[in-house]
Amino acid sequence: MDILSLTYEQLEVELAKLGCEKFRAKQVFLWLHTATQGGGNVNFSQMTNLSLQLRAKLDSNFYINSLNLQKTLVCDTDNTVKYLYALSDGEKIETVMMEYKHANSLCISTQVGCKMNCSFCASGSNGFVRNLSPGEMLLQLYQSEVISGRQVGNVVLMGIGEPLDNFDNVISFLKILSDKNGRNMSLRNVSLSTCGLCDEIEQLAEYKFPLTLSISLHAANDTLRNSIMPINKKYNIERLMRSCAYYFKKTGRRISFEYALIEGVNDDENSALALIGLLKHSNSHINLIGLNKVTNSTFTKSQNVKSFQQILTNGGLNATIRRTLGAQIGAACGQLVTMYN
Ligand code: SAH
Repeated sequence: MDILSLTYEQLEVELAKLGCEKFRAKQVFLWLHTATQGGGNVNFSQMTNLSLQLRAKLDSNFYINSLNLQKTLVCDTDNTVKYLYALSDGEKIETVMMEYKHANSLCISTQVGCKMNCSFCASGSNGFVRNLSPGEMLLQLYQSEVISGRQVGNVVLMGIGEPLDNFDNVISFLKILSDKNGRNMSLRNVSLSTCGLCDEIEQLAEYKFPLTLSISLHAANDTLRNSIMPINKKYNIERLMRSCAYYFKKTGRRISFEYALIEGVNDDENSALALIGLLKHSNSHINLIGLNKVTNSTFTKSQNVKSFQQILTNGGLNATIRRTLGAQIGAACGQLVTMYN
């Protein structure tokens, strides 16, 4: 059994089955989610605060996963670093470390590949392979911190994959990450971005996590959104807005909408006015992204980012422009795809 993927409660149950005393769960969990920050390559024999007998028992019932660093790319201009990791079955994912004024932010992948096929994004261009386990998401954090020597203050689930398409594992990841018996990261420091899986947005609301939910909107009318984001054919904008209102009502957390500006596609004045119409009364925040170049798409970056922002601001929306980090090394939004071997 993959012990890094177990929540605290699950570990308690598993250890009880092995006849361990209740307090052992706390000891083991704390060790796992702090000692693995030693780089992932740890084993039970290093748990010297446990008896030899118990260590042997753990060793025969569980394994401790790790990632294998394949490649590191550094962007000199902004200190962004992209890591290519191989998983234990040889599949590959990317993780990006970004530097902001107050803290480092780590962009974590949640799947190998992606099913969503947004036309401006590279992450789905090689198809979908599999979901990541909670442990594989945590290890991106633990190992990237050790390799870089940089401490991560914020985690963004914005790497390869659609987090809400890997719902149960992402929920376990969030529980483990924020567990007071382990890493104890506040979920206020976590953002989760989704292309708009409405049933799952509503399910997520029930957990009342204090994280920031980001919605990849990119178009304010269904015709356009259908043409660039296939998920819109399943959950149209009206349904998406209903799910967002529900999420806000349940959690009290303001939603952030992402809007990548694409030249000649969604960057004209009418698009901005439609966006104002859609979000005016929603108590939300809009994050404009200058489109990043990806090889599988002919779309280019809009020249109107500033003027688009101005129209939104004049219309009463709270709109900011996302800083582009790591574009030189293919580490910016939409560019993660793991093409190299
Ligand atoms: N699957 C999730 C997580 C991806 S997060 C989602 O769709 O939200 C990455 C963000 O970058 C999303 O808002 C995504 O729509 C956006 N993005 C994708 N391709 C992009 C590109 N070429 N340029 C700028 N942003 C892009």
